[in-house]
Amino acid sequence: MFLYLYHMTRSEIQQIQTALNAALPDLPRLAPDGLIGAKSKAALMAWETRRGLAPVADFERAYGVMFPAQEKPFPRNIKYLVLHCAATQPDATIESIQRYWRVNLGWKAPGYHWLISADGVAHALQPIEKSSNGVAGYNSTSIHISYIGGIDRNGKPKDTRTEAQKVTQLRLLRELRVKFPKARILGHRDFPSVSKACPSFDVKSWVEANGIKANP
Ligand SMILES: [Zn+2]
Repeated sequence: MFLYLYHMTRSEIQQIQTALNAALPDLPRLAPDGLIGAKSKAALMAWETRRGLAPVADFERAYGVMFPAQEKPFPRNIKYLVLHCAATQPDATIESIQRYWRVNLGWKAPGYHWLISADGVAHALQPIEKSSNGVAGYNSTSIHISYIGGIDRNGKPKDTRTEAQKVTQLRLLRELRVKFPKARILGHRDFPSVSKACPSFDVKSWVEANGIKANP
């Protein structure tokens, strides 16, 4: 649930604090003040760990930026919400994908803001206030959401999304659409001069079949 904290209102964070108090009765009570301090942070980490989710190696990098930014204007002009696939087998690990960016491509920033694993968990890799490396030439104005998978056993493009991945894609898009009402939703391959098949499905028809306008 807290993967979406970036663009939550204070009252939404208060609801989460109340939920954390109920879910973690053995931890110190959180004051439902809508602000994430050390106790809320510890509770979020405990909640994640107890659910068996991948631990966040660098909490401040993944989640920290939103808190001071909450009441300030958003620092980037977001024009595009872009869906990607990782162009991997569906069971590739986040660690292997991150290693590829770091070691093989020499990237300092990750390729996407979120990477959705087969179980539907959206792993936050970069605060949306900062750019990630999804589409060359468009990163400063884009938010990138990717799912693990996108190719078949023979290396050919294939929509390998699980139902859980689809649900999470739609949830993120609906939340981001509220915050960025004018942003266009499109797939990586819909940008000019892109020769990739990413994300291995037609984004516009799929989001519109699910009640989300691609071009507001
Ligand atoms: Zn892509």
